[in-house]
Amino acid sequence: MSGGSREPPVVLDDDDDLLHLRDDDARQYNIDAAHGVVEAVRSTFGPRGLDKMLVGTTGDTTVTNDGVTVLNSMDIDHPAAKLLVQVARAQEEEVGDGTTTAVLFAGALLRQAEDLLERGLHPVLIVDGYHVAVERAFEDIDDLADPLDAGDDTALERIARTSLIGTSVETDATALVPLLVEAVRRATVDGTVDFDLLQVHAHAGRSITRSEVFTGAVVEGDACHEAMPREIDDARVMLLDGTMELEPTEHEVRVEADTADGLAAILADEETRLDRAVEHVLETGANVVLVTGNVDDRASAFLSSEGVLAVDHLGWGDAELRFLRDALGAAVVTDLGAVAEDTLGHASVRRDDEHDCFLLESDGGLGASLVLRGATRSVVDEIDRSASDALDVMARAIADDRTLPGGGAVEVELAARLRGHADGVRGPQQLAVGAFADALETIPRTLASNAGFDVVNVLTGLRAAHAAGDANAGLDVSDGSVLDAREAGIVEPAQVKEQALLGATRTAAQLLEIDLVVSAEGLSPVVDGDESS
Ligand code: ADP
Ligand code: MG
Repeated sequence: MSGGSREPPVVLDDDDDLLHLRDDDARQYNIDAAHGVVEAVRSTFGPRGLDKMLVGTTGDTTVTNDGVTVLNSMDIDHPAAKLLVQVARAQEEEVGDGTTTAVLFAGALLRQAEDLLERGLHPVLIVDGYHVAVERAFEDIDDLADPLDAGDDTALERIARTSLIGTSVETDATALVPLLVEAVRRATVDGTVDFDLLQVHAHAGRSITRSEVFTGAVVEGDACHEAMPREIDDARVMLLDGTMELEPTEHEVRVEADTADGLAAILADEETRLDRAVEHVLETGANVVLVTGNVDDRASAFLSSEGVLAVDHLGWGDAELRFLRDALGAAVVTDLGAVAEDTLGHASVRRDDEHDCFLLESDGGLGASLVLRGATRSVVDEIDRSASDALDVMARAIADDRTLPGGGAVEVELAARLRGHADGVRGPQQLAVGAFADALETIPRTLASNAGFDVVNVLTGLRAAHAAGDANAGLDVSDGSVLDAREAGIVEPAQVKEQALLGATRTAAQLLEIDLVVSAEGLSPVVDGDESS
């Protein structure tokens, strides 16, 4: 798609229905669209970023500080703008955090490219220069990264806290962060975090400080009989993937049910069979019975009279059954005859009537439940989003084992180093490498401007500190001064940064290499945002 001087391979007639933009016009059109997306998320960035209130078509409201959530809510149909939204989504999927960073950086690369294009630099050379720069940046990141002591709770807490800062959860971070670290610990096996071992539940109605994490499971639903106990300290839990009901076989029914006596006999027979099965369950010592299918009235009355709690119609699939099995240390039985003392899990059971669920805290299981609480649905949903980012980021840091100083520190340092490298790059690409360095500084710039500080002052201060050898110098958002980001506990996993740089560079390159836009529908304005801020 390169080669500005060449004619495009498509032969176009002068059909008025098609709108054609070539070369600079095509690029400018796309770059303008990209900026629309950047501006939509800019103000959410960093610890002093503002929340956005998103009102959906049905009037549902979301209050969020999360870049991807903002972008997902917007009605974007410009292809170039969509590419930028794609960067944010990819970032969210790959590493779970740094989405706004990626979008801002892509925007800054395009802004820089506009200057270079005006100065007559060919887009292909700009793209080449950006690729050289991102490679150098990766080498420098390796050099700047510190290893993470994954066994150290404080180190993980810092990473979680940095990720939560700026979200509505920030003020309650003290309550939440240790829980999140605890959740990650409980989902870690052999040094790797396995999110299949963690179930997160978001319950509206109580304060965030009432959030909790425990080994065990949350079981939605209520007992199948009024008189059953709802709280059991010393629970022995049976997991049945099946039903507890009378089941005369069709065969028997057909052969014998043509007389009333025959039918009664079959039922009596079945009742005895079911009673025996329930007796067998009771003999194993089970006092909590969790059943995917139906427990019929007879069985449920029997269990109830014996003080057993039964919950039925749980409808769990394979993944949920596996989680329950591991979390409770029980075996999944498909046939009541197979229940035995050693197929039971051990737990203590609490009832949460407000959310119509039971909380089963187990003592020996592998698998944890994180119950996030918040005053209202919209509050707890945002807590859920923020917490999920923080969990991802910790897992990422544990897997990657490299951390970088935040607060703009790493960007300013990378920019300074790149400017040094640029001197060694020959030809016009040198300009592009320098432009890449300038683009990196959009991160500290935006942090500063969102916090209300003079951008030039802040940047001058940061550059001076880095020139003096302080690679960890970042922005103190409380007063605009320079702080040691590592000492202040502002650290992020290196992969989050790498992914953001890479995604942004690729997208900017893609947009710069487009030299023709043809649209059958006419060229519409960029963003039909239904965002409000
Ligand atoms: P993203 O979507 O890119 O994660 P955020 O709004 O979460 O955007 O902001 C992340 C940025 O905020 C990072 O550059 C991070 O270093 C910075 N940051 C986080 N905590 C602080 C802090 N206490 N002081 C200064 N900067 C911070
Ligand atoms: Mg973040």
